[in-house]
Amino acid sequence: MAKIMDGKLVSEYIRGKIKDEASALKTRNIVPGLAVILVGDDPASKIYVNNKKKACEQLGFYSEEHLLPADISQEDLMAIVQSLNVRSDINGILCQLPLPSHLDVAPVIEAINPLKDVDAFHPVNVGRIMTGDFKFLPCTPAGVMEMIEYYGINVDGKSCCVIGRSDIVGKPMSMLMLHKNATVTICHSHTKNLKEICRAADIIVAAIGHPRFVTADMVKPGAVVIDVGINRLETGKICGDVDFDNVEPIASYITPVPGGVGPMTITMLMKNTLTAAKIQNLLDK
Ligand code: NDP
Repeated sequence: MAKIMDGKLVSEYIRGKIKDEASALKTRNIVPGLAVILVGDDPASKIYVNNKKKACEQLGFYSEEHLLPADISQEDLMAIVQSLNVRSDINGILCQLPLPSHLDVAPVIEAINPLKDVDAFHPVNVGRIMTGDFKFLPCTPAGVMEMIEYYGINVDGKSCCVIGRSDIVGKPMSMLMLHKNATVTICHSHTKNLKEICRAADIIVAAIGHPRFVTADMVKPGAVVIDVGINRLETGKICGDVDFDNVEPIASYITPVPGGVGPMTITMLMKNTLTAAKIQNLLDK
């Protein structure tokens, strides 16, 4: 039986610390401020944006939403980013992705001041993750690392298999594991012997987007299994990238879906916004 890594529990613990820090900042008249840009009316994106707003309220942050029409021009969108860059009450800016297809994502991300880039998608912040000299980490991989730390899992010298190489999860996840001295193998859709690589790993991080992709025969007994996947089944049920029911009995630690990595993501966005407020008020380097 594996120990369940409870993302809600860890998230509440970290939010408590963020709230305390935000209260301390308030005594200096500093209120962390987050601006969220949402283009169009994608229902899933609306839910995410609403959850971010609620998290800000819970922690005493200021937040504002910029709900923009789906046919907004690239120039108008960039102008909004620029206007947020120069506001002192806005410490974090994020543009909810995906954007409608007529918009080019990269220039929008690159227009965000790297010190306000709380998603850590700007090339400056991506580069800093490579060198280990980072101010912000992308929220989902950062959340995984917080969970690993909370449960006292030692990564040093362990073999780690990250399945998935996306810019927002797989690649930064691999770098963070490497910074913690894991020996990391990154697998993707072209990997030939994925099953064997996975089965040799002490720690598996699955970020694929395929329901129950990681089966029990791919997991070494006693391995730590982190499931980043969020897949909606035809039944409407949410499941991860790991076959939880069959993997849980052989793993040492495992994250459930829902209730594992998912709750950590917005919490890490709040942590980044707090960090941004401290940096911009010269309270952090
Ligand atoms: P992407 O679709 O961007 O990347 C998926 C990765 O999985 C790719 O690198 C792809 O390989 C790899 N892959 C796909 N099929 C296979 C296969 N058969 N064998 C091996 N590798 C494969 O997804 P994301 O990284 O954005 O997200 C991954 C999952 O995590 C999704 O379920 C998503 O919903 C979830 N997610 C959860 C978050 C959270 O808050 N918990 C936040 C972000 C994402 P290749 O590069 O070769 O195509």
